[in-house]
Amino acid sequence: MGETIFSKIIRKEIPAHIVYETDEVLAFKDINPQAPVHVIIIPKITEIETTRDIDPKKHTKLLGALYEAANKIAKEMKVHETGFRLVLNCGPDSGQEVYHLHMHLLGGRKMNWPPG
Ligand code: AMP
Repeated sequence: MGETIFSKIIRKEIPAHIVYETDEVLAFKDINPQAPVHVIIIPKITEIETTRDIDPKKHTKLLGALYEAANKIAKEMKVHETGFRLVLNCGPDSGQEVYHLHMHLLGGRKMNWPPG
């Protein structure tokens, strides 16, 4: 369960521009960036395909680690003060392509609302 392109990045079987890594979390530059800063932040465990699969009891620490990563990366990429957007696509209508929970960190330009 949960084998995706991101599993291969976690196992370092395919290259990625990694910007942050801990025991629990990995972050790398999106291959098709939609903003000057576009980083994908993922848990290293593969059992969570979408936000629908998050178990608040089981994954509380992991969720904290994902948001900690987002804030640290935003600081590192100099968008912490100017602002940034975190996006978690979930399921077909959202346009989710990779079924391994991931957070998009987008910044470095003015964002539009509503999103497309
Ligand atoms: P989503 O549509 O939310 O599932 O987003 C998946 C994201 O993963 C897209 O923005 C892709 O550009 C990105 N992506 C897919 N394959 C790779 C890869 N090998 N390295 C970096 N980013 C990737």
